[in-house]
Amino acid sequence: MYYYSTNKQAAKATLEEAVIKGLASDKGLFMPETIKRLPDAFYHNIGEMTFQEMSFIVAEAFFGEDVEADILKEIVYDTLNFDTPLVHVHDNIYSLELFHGPTLAFKDVGGRFMARLLGHFIRKKGEKEVNVLVATSGDTGSAVANGFLGVPGIRVFVLYPKGKVSEIQEKQFTTLGQNITALEVDGTFDDCQSLVKEAFMDKELNKALLLTSANSINVARFLPQSFYYFYAYAQLARIEKNKDVVFCVPSGNFGNITAGLFAKRMGLPVKRFIAANNRNDIFLQYLITGKYEPRPSIPTIANAMDVGNPSNFARILDLYENSHEAICKEISGVSYTDDQIRETLSEVYKKYNYLLDPHGTCGYRALTEKLENGETGIFLETAHPAKFLETVEGVINTPVNIPDTLLKFMHGKKKSIEIPASFIPFKRLLLNTK
Ligand SMILES: *Cc1c(COP(=O)(O)O)cnc(C)c1O
Repeated sequence: MYYYSTNKQAAKATLEEAVIKGLASDKGLFMPETIKRLPDAFYHNIGEMTFQEMSFIVAEAFFGEDVEADILKEIVYDTLNFDTPLVHVHDNIYSLELFHGPTLAFKDVGGRFMARLLGHFIRKKGEKEVNVLVATSGDTGSAVANGFLGVPGIRVFVLYPKGKVSEIQEKQFTTLGQNITALEVDGTFDDCQSLVKEAFMDKELNKALLLTSANSINVARFLPQSFYYFYAYAQLARIEKNKDVVFCVPSGNFGNITAGLFAKRMGLPVKRFIAANNRNDIFLQYLITGKYEPRPSIPTIANAMDVGNPSNFARILDLYENSHEAICKEISGVSYTDDQIRETLSEVYKKYNYLLDPHGTCGYRALTEKLENGETGIFLETAHPAKFLETVEGVINTPVNIPDTLLKFMHGKKKSIEIPASFIPFKRLLLNTK
């Protein structure tokens, strides 16, 4: 299957090209030429399938023309070696817990899948080694690093701003070793991003090394996020609550929710979607006014959603052929302040003994306000509350249980290479570690 660019200027790409390049040459995002509808029988039987079984069928619809079945199956089964259970919170509200992977956040699914698919293409091309450069303000670095950990033929360089990520976040990508190198940049997140961008433009460097990025716009990270929408639906089907299903997705770059929109296009019976935002409500404003006006992000306690120009908005526009009306029919929006997030997080803990993280809290609250009679709501609990320890403990005034996976990172020894925020030393380092 071919992939076209949302900017429609670049030539169509194969899956292999789209995965290795990430972004199209006209700076657009890659979109699959067709989104295949899955047969009715699939939806009739969905309640009887395992997460891995149904995800393999979904993966075949996306990637089956380009990846041999046995290899694709291995990639899917290997990626999804953890569960994403649906938990009943109260009444008709369910939490889809996407935090049971290695870094306790939903980005693990896409990170792990992409690592395996990219590894496959690198071996197929006969390339000895590919270098993945990733700039992170915290969470992306850990999901990518852990996804790629130990994958043969891939080296990962994580660039992060010194002193500007939390200790837990830092430990999740500086303690791994093996094929993961953490670069502690004396600068800001923007400096890290500039270094990565400059590396991709440097002729000499690109001649010497095969470089690629692993950001969330990559189709191999983005599309697999649709798997858990099917699985969530299947879990509702098992208890016969799968009528008028509403998904509510805490959103930043809008990759997660867009994967859900793809699932609906494939025939998953979802009634509608709600995009939950913190105060960075560019999408909500678009729904209200019809105008898309990016602006600088503002910091909030749900910081993985502090995005002022959601990159996947281009995919949503493309999916609905730029129709504001069509978008408003299927997606609505909400926006919450930090105070509202704290209030709801505390209330749910006290009343239902369920501990939310600040991102999932936005999703939960939107369902309490927007769900209509007869609808069943699922919000995506995008990260484990212990990942935002200080915020969450500050709100509930009780120590939070830290899962073993997180404790293991915290006990690990940090290893990083300090570099200044300038290109020459960074380039020299990449060339020398060859
Ligand atoms: C990345 C992230 C989000 C936002 O997801 P998008 O796909 O960027 O919309 C929400 N919550 C958490 C915890 C995240 O890490």
